[in-house]
Amino acid sequence: MTQSTPVRRAPSYRAPLPDALHSALRLASAGVPVLPLRKGKVPFGNCPACAGSACGDRPHMKAAGPCRCPQACHGWAAATTDPNVITSAAWAPMWRTAAAVAYHPAGARLTVVDLDDADAVAWARATLTVTRIVPTTRGEHWIYRGTMRSANSVRPGVDIKSAMAYTRWLGPGTGAMTDLPSAVRALVDKEETTPAGRGVVSSPPERAVWDHTVATGCRHTERYVRTGLERGLAKVRARTESGAGSQAFGVAQFLGAQHAECPGPCALDTLGQQVVAAAVSVGVPEPYAQRAVANGLTAALGRAA
Ligand SMILES: [Zn+2]
Ligand SMILES: [Zn+2]
Ligand SMILES: [Zn+2]
Repeated sequence: MTQSTPVRRAPSYRAPLPDALHSALRLASAGVPVLPLRKGKVPFGNCPACAGSACGDRPHMKAAGPCRCPQACHGWAAATTDPNVITSAAWAPMWRTAAAVAYHPAGARLTVVDLDDADAVAWARATLTVTRIVPTTRGEHWIYRGTMRSANSVRPGVDIKSAMAYTRWLGPGTGAMTDLPSAVRALVDKEETTPAGRGVVSSPPERAVWDHTVATGCRHTERYVRTGLERGLAKVRARTESGAGSQAFGVAQFLGAQHAECPGPCALDTLGQQVVAAAVSVGVPEPYAQRAVANGLTAALGRAA
């Protein structure tokens, strides 16, 4: 009744929030890292200090640097679940003109298969496991549980948005979310193996799925291995603020130790790559994550010997 009670303390900001900010806060509270998009549905440009990556980029970007800019600079890398940042003075002007909200899928342990048009949608319906679906202007977002490397145009009209990427928030969609199928991972694997004049050293073959076709000498059931893996990945992904690298080491060591009694091979590299992906999804630079996981597996094998 008495909307205008005089008890007004700091957080009684009841003026209507801009829609985008409102959605952003709701998503953030559900653990989805968000950022504002400007007109044209792209991130706000970098501030003068960050222009051309003069700041050195943010710590969880590919070229990891010391940037701690309070503005929403560096596209997907600005995405956060921290309501203090989202409602900060630095972000306020952006929300006032924001055209949309974006989120960082891998930061929410998700992968979005972005189907641009009717043909792409038809292909997905014929090929992929059904999951949570969000309609877009001309196509659909198919949202899966799990993270992977992002890649554009893996097929005509199909982009994969997960690690180091943002995508538009267009509502919760409908349908039960399912695990990222290997058919989706394979789209990027295929892209990786096509010779494109790229250096060979940088990336390992991406995130294969563990099963007995690769782990021919493992005495465990797939269920046992997957459960251990998922538990470990959850621990790494929970370290959104700090410590994900050392957690990745610990998880790799734990997973390695599970196979101490197996005759082998147990395809521990395959498990390790999932741990790397989880660490990268919460901002650990990939080279560091690779090292932490390799060291963890080595430590486990050392103990087994
Ligand atoms: Zn900046
Ligand atoms: Zn910067
Ligand atoms: Zn084993």
